[in-house]
Amino acid sequence: MKIGFIGLGNMGGPMAANLAKAGHEVTGFDTAGVTIDGVTVAASAEDAARDRDVVITMLPNGAILRAVADQVIPVMQPGAVLLDCSTVDVESARAVAAQANAAGLSALDAPVSGGVGGATAGTLTFMVGGDEAGFNVASELFDIMGQKSVHCGPSGNGQAAKICNNMILGATMIVTCEAFALADKLGLDRQAMFDVVSTSSGYSWSMNAYCPAPGVGPQSPADNGYKPGFAAELMLKDLRLAQQAAEAADADTPIGAAATALYAQFVEDEDGQGMDFSAMLPRFEGRGHK
Ligand code: NAD
Repeated sequence: MKIGFIGLGNMGGPMAANLAKAGHEVTGFDTAGVTIDGVTVAASAEDAARDRDVVITMLPNGAILRAVADQVIPVMQPGAVLLDCSTVDVESARAVAAQANAAGLSALDAPVSGGVGGATAGTLTFMVGGDEAGFNVASELFDIMGQKSVHCGPSGNGQAAKICNNMILGATMIVTCEAFALADKLGLDRQAMFDVVSTSSGYSWSMNAYCPAPGVGPQSPADNGYKPGFAAELMLKDLRLAQQAAEAADADTPIGAAATALYAQFVEDEDGQGMDFSAMLPRFEGRGHK
């Protein structure tokens, strides 16, 4: 396929490289002037999008996505697929899809889980909203860039799935960290805590696959000085998207709200900026009971 790829950052770069490696003709554009092995550099977003079967975007937020969509939709060929893999607000995802559909294009919102490691290894999970025809065209690309894609329904539903997933992740990480800090104070050995919880009803991905305590469980950012991994500020971004969506939909999400407030405090008032999101554990350890 002829693919345009806009946004060649930490995630988009390796995703575009994997598509090129698989034999697709990839033309990329990034305002930072990034170059990626096997990807032809275009002079503008429009040039990357013209005459392409699929145009993929991997951008920082909804406002930038809307601006890029305004540039590329008018030059895309009829019937082509606009495939946004960024994590953005549900409203922007739906607005961009409506604009693309009105121009005779297929549109998919397909945010990912798996981080930079998954993008590099081609093992991402795609949560996809949008029309069936577009999903069928993009499936082949999801199989190259990832190991799983789930069609979640109409436009915006991919973003909905992503923010619900990450709200659960943020909340379970916080409670896992506060439980470790409590266990320390109660004199419970961390290895014992991990061995029990990881095989008991308190288990979760945060405990079992990404344990926030160094030296126990599988290798995780905790074993590397809490260098990200998944940065606390990115978790805060996703939690805020979830709160924004909850407010718009009149959904009651008190634990999501509490998690958002804690990550905001950690990133904006404490020393969480640039730390992995599991660094909530040293934060709780340091605070004790106040
Ligand atoms: P990044 O900042 O590394 O990459 C974004 C890229 O977009 C940058 O290279 C930037 O120069 C480029 N860009 C910005 N405006 C542009 C424009 N108008 N035209 C062309 N290029 C433009 O971010 P990232 O970590 O690659 O994340 C991208 C998206 O994926 C975000 O929405 C993020 O929330 C989501 N995401 C990230 C991770 C992760 O672990 N990094 C995991 C899952 C999802």
